[in-house]
Amino acid sequence: MTSNLVEPTSPISQVPVSLGARSYDILIGANLIAQAGDKLRDILRNPRVAIVTDENVAAIHLQSLQNALTDAGIEYSALIFPHGEGSKTISVYTDLMNQLLEARIQRDEALIALGGGVIGDLTGFAASTLRRGVDFIQIPTTLLSQVDSSVGGKTGINAPQGKNLIGAFYQPRLVLADISILDSLPRREILAGYAEIVKYGLLGDYGFFEWLEVNGKKVIEGDVAARIYAVEQSVKAKARIVANDERESGVRAFLNLGHTFGHALEAETGYGPRLNHGEAVAIGMIMAAELSARLGHLNRQDCRRIRTHFEDVGLPVSVPLASDMDWTAEKLLAHMRQDKKISNGKITLILLKEIGEAFSTQAVAEADILSLLKQEIQE
Ligand code: NAD
Repeated sequence: MTSNLVEPTSPISQVPVSLGARSYDILIGANLIAQAGDKLRDILRNPRVAIVTDENVAAIHLQSLQNALTDAGIEYSALIFPHGEGSKTISVYTDLMNQLLEARIQRDEALIALGGGVIGDLTGFAASTLRRGVDFIQIPTTLLSQVDSSVGGKTGINAPQGKNLIGAFYQPRLVLADISILDSLPRREILAGYAEIVKYGLLGDYGFFEWLEVNGKKVIEGDVAARIYAVEQSVKAKARIVANDERESGVRAFLNLGHTFGHALEAETGYGPRLNHGEAVAIGMIMAAELSARLGHLNRQDCRRIRTHFEDVGLPVSVPLASDMDWTAEKLLAHMRQDKKISNGKITLILLKEIGEAFSTQAVAEADILSLLKQEIQE
């Protein structure tokens, strides 16, 4: 168990991701976008970039980035795509590549992903394949992308056969997490990102979970110091895990806490607006905690404590029952059998020994998973 209750002191926090020649920094702070030109000038090989963004983010934040680049003498083009998961498709990727080639983006130029996880995943994958690889910079604009998707180098798009099936491990050169950008984010998206923040406490840092129990509401409601601290602790945890296991052959799998259940819920709701990724992961984490308790790994008191915190901050803890949805435990289990993490025909689950200590197992009988799913659906 580690305990970390220290408040940040510096207005810009710098977290390194140590991956040898592919190492990079994550900068976290308020109003960082105004300093983007200065920060980028230090790492760009050629002061010319293509900004990739979505229509929502462009309407609110593109001008500030353009001003910062102009002030720093960096030339740019801006490519704007529709918002939402629909932009992580082969057709949008093809369109983006055509536009980048028509704009004659050269090998020593860079792409900037200005947006949430959708834009980050799409742009990172485009950067990994354009002229066999150009630099890319992440400016994540959702809480989820600041604490999770912009860090670690997983990039990709969806295929008709499933989510994130086409992609590459490709690290950015820099991540700029501007906390002020989150002020325009709808509350539902803030909560989706908060689910991933709690995940870091649950899987490896009891002290951080304790801090969240006291300060979680401040993070959600927009307290700048609390948000900086929460983002900083989250990316430190992710950076540590990624540095030890870049390609997910070991501990990186712990980051999937709640995800195998969550992906099944997302698949069952058609990846639609009814349940977003963070909400599905939140319910998935409750299921993982409940199963851990049922199997005797986690004590009941800790399991209740996790549920209480989720309820306190407004995270969903149960499947949203709707009259037009035909949820069955069998259907959810069938989705879980399709999970990418399945190996030798066995479902891999990340469970909890205690708050702050996760483990990976393939030893859970499907009958136990099924019985848990039945209970959770009936609630
Ligand atoms: P998103 O990119 O779709 O953004 C959510 C919504 O918020 C969009 O409508 C967007 O236009 C809007 N938005 C973004 N920033 C805004 C701002 N500052 N103000 C107002 N509106 C804003 O969703 P997301 O939750 O950021 O990312 C989800 C994606 O991330 C999924 O495709 C998922 O697969 C991927 N993901 C990737 C990784 C990884 O390691 N690469 C990890 C987790 C999730």
